[in-house]
Amino acid sequence: MKNIKVIAFDADDTLWVNEPYFLEAEQKFCALLEDYLPHHSVSQELFKTEMQNLSLYGYGVKSFMLCMIETVLRVTNNTANPEILHKTIQYGQELLNKPIELLDDVKEVLEALKGKYRLVVATKGDLLDQERKLSKSGLATYFHHIEIMSDKKEKDYEKLLKHLDCKPEHFLMLGNSLKSDVMPVLEIGGHAVHIPYHTTWAHEQIDHTLEHDNFYQVKALAEILPQLL
Ligand SMILES: [Mg+2]
Repeated sequence: MKNIKVIAFDADDTLWVNEPYFLEAEQKFCALLEDYLPHHSVSQELFKTEMQNLSLYGYGVKSFMLCMIETVLRVTNNTANPEILHKTIQYGQELLNKPIELLDDVKEVLEALKGKYRLVVATKGDLLDQERKLSKSGLATYFHHIEIMSDKKEKDYEKLLKHLDCKPEHFLMLGNSLKSDVMPVLEIGGHAVHIPYHTTWAHEQIDHTLEHDNFYQVKALAEILPQLL
């Protein structure tokens, strides 16, 4: 990793807790519909709705809320009590108001890398929500640039690198998703570090192992420091 100039961090479940909050909301949502379908089936229905709408809505809490509402109407065959819809919207709003819980070593790692590299955030999700989370996190001052991306495919990273005026071989991405944070970056010639989080959204899961000269796997964020300092 000798030639790295720009280090980009994924945000959700890399800098701070995210997926557990979605899972918690989903559990409450499934309980809300337990008179209609078992938990597991509601969960499957919700995931199906999310996948159907992903290209229309993109990622983030507001998309999740619209998908929960659509799932309520489908599961209840359009007979849902308005109280169910009211609670569904409330669960989404609670997600938007969750406190920011930084993951281990995040501040120390940013502090150690500050001034030595250009540090960037590269995240998916709702623009306003991600901006609010970054502001609440107290981490904004560490970063040269914040990129809130509609998706994390090869073309999205190419756009980011062009904007940063950075060659792929000088770019390192760190994140918890092999599918979004690692594979597309390796594909365009960049470097990537995978830091697994204990829970991963089904959509982000891949079922094969990865081997690549520019790929590094660590168990915790702080493990990257000896490679970079
Ligand atoms: Mg993530």
